[in-house]
Amino acid sequence: MDFSQLGLSNDILVSIKNANYEKPYPIQVKAIPIILKKRDILGIAQTGSGKTATYVLPLLDFISKTPVSKNRNIAHLIIVPTRELAIQVEEVIRSFGNFLPRKIKSAAVFGGVSINPQMMKLNGTDILVATPGRLLDLLSKNAISLHELQTLVLDEADKVLNLGFKEEVDEILTRLPTKRLNILFSATMEPSVEVLIQKLLKNYEKIEI
Ligand code: AMP
Repeated sequence: MDFSQLGLSNDILVSIKNANYEKPYPIQVKAIPIILKKRDILGIAQTGSGKTATYVLPLLDFISKTPVSKNRNIAHLIIVPTRELAIQVEEVIRSFGNFLPRKIKSAAVFGGVSINPQMMKLNGTDILVATPGRLLDLLSKNAISLHELQTLVLDEADKVLNLGFKEEVDEILTRLPTKRLNILFSATMEPSVEVLIQKLLKNYEKIEI
């Protein structure tokens, strides 16, 4: 199986080549075509499986077909449990996005650091990677808006819940438009994750690696 068989556009295939990914990992073979069809997906996968590129590549494909964003409306949101993962995911976005003709603006926001410098940089963001608490802070300060959100990714959902972010996630969900694509990744299927799946995903496909 080759990346060119997954339905990704040529621009994305070029950036994959430049990033020196030769063959798609199994999770990418299974999940990328589903995400590109804008079908909700549940992925049970561990770190190291290649899950980040699995959702980043289709998001870049969507964005590369849209005009450059100029406002505070976020179209694609990735919620992660920790600052480290936020930084890491944004690096993956940049590593592919840098090679695309359409300029991609990404940002990572997380708690534990001053909010003002983060707020200043958010205009025109195509993909926001965020931890739940800081995301709510930014929403309450009107630094961003989610009412035009197209894609929600919740990565490491079990860890998000185990770190005590359930209420924050519930609050964030009330601020999203109902029509959107939902992508949920979790390493485990514990009961709290199942509750979240019921709340979040509609008519979804499940893949397990
Ligand atoms: P992740 O599970 O997303 O943290 O990815 C684990 C590691 O695999 C990262 O270093 C990725 O850059 C790398 N990776 C993901 N997909 C591929 C691929 N198709 N070919 C080569 N490396 C990959």
